[in-house]
Amino acid sequence: MMKTIFIAFSLLLSITVYSQKKPEPNLEKKAAEIHKRTLTIDSHTDTPLRFLNADFDIGKDNDKRSSKVDLPKMKAGGLDAAFFAVFLGQRERNDDANKIAIAKAHEIFAAVKKEVARYPDLAEVAYTPNDAIKLKKQGKRAIYIGIENGYAIGNDISLVKKYFEMGARYMTLCHSKNNDICDSANDTIEHNGLSKFGEDVVKEMNRVGMMIDVSHISDKSFFDVIKLSKTPVIASHSCSRTICNNPRNMTDEMLMKLKENGGVIQMCILSDYVKKIDQDTLRIQAQLALREKYKGFKNLSDEMYKKVIAEWYGIDEVYPPKLADVEDVVDHIDYIVKLIGIDHIGIGTDFDGGGGVNGCNNASEMENITLELVKRGYSEEDIQKIWSGNLLRVYRKVMEYAD
Ligand SMILES: [Zn+2]
Repeated sequence: MMKTIFIAFSLLLSITVYSQKKPEPNLEKKAAEIHKRTLTIDSHTDTPLRFLNADFDIGKDNDKRSSKVDLPKMKAGGLDAAFFAVFLGQRERNDDANKIAIAKAHEIFAAVKKEVARYPDLAEVAYTPNDAIKLKKQGKRAIYIGIENGYAIGNDISLVKKYFEMGARYMTLCHSKNNDICDSANDTIEHNGLSKFGEDVVKEMNRVGMMIDVSHISDKSFFDVIKLSKTPVIASHSCSRTICNNPRNMTDEMLMKLKENGGVIQMCILSDYVKKIDQDTLRIQAQLALREKYKGFKNLSDEMYKKVIAEWYGIDEVYPPKLADVEDVVDHIDYIVKLIGIDHIGIGTDFDGGGGVNGCNNASEMENITLELVKRGYSEEDIQKIWSGNLLRVYRKVMEYAD
């Protein structure tokens, strides 16, 4: 008996001595410090869609249900910079429809600049990789512009340069439908990858120094782009298809090619792309009914769009969605890092375009990603690469190549 007590006591003592030698590190404190020192960039948000709502004000802490990104939320979440997408839903592809799309794109560019200009002491529109570094030192947020959907150029190649001059630093070649540039991951085969016009677009983007965004494009389109592009590419908001099987996510083969290309995949945190979770049947039915009511959400006017958004979020109130969480997001990061290394992964939330998971559901919660990375043993150097280093490396390469 005494012997047992003695062994137990020695064991307890040895544990105590061990834990005194190696105190439990305060991971939260460590993560907070790293997060503060790190330049953080979110490569994809659809926040300009919220500008249609007259109540939206980038300088105020807007209702989280209607908007996930604004300057106070970015500050609270230690998010230094974000790409705001000039997003165009794919509509018809003829001269009249193209004209409307081009006009709409111009309108969104102007709206982003106008909204940011309301708060010159808090934020600025950024145009170069160094702008984010400079603005962080000044305590200001950097807002970059990206175009989501090459439909914004219709079939006018000269618009690539024009949009670059207006501030666009990447263009997602298509969205969830095929366009004149290439096939989408969510549509049928039309061009079998990049079209002839799409090849010209890739060359022109290389020439002017605009990053090519391969998110949303079909696998074949992706391989065509990689073969043709003289510069590394980005996937501004995508995940691993091995971890979550969705055509929008990237296969291992694509990720290996991306590594060879020197590019970067920016981890999307839209729950459906992160993890398959069965949702409440009533929620699904309500969403289907809404889709039917608004004829598949096709050709919505701005007024109608506002109504749809309000009703869509209304469904969330009654039947809250079951979401993936930050651990699931970092599972993708772990997987991608193991497959292609630490130099090819970043973060692109897709906030205000459906993005958001439990624990990181708006820009004020960004630090939780850093915390999870710290918990899993990522070094400060790794975390800096993930939050901005890798994306800025590609951005610089693309600008160096331009004439
Ligand atoms: Zn998207």
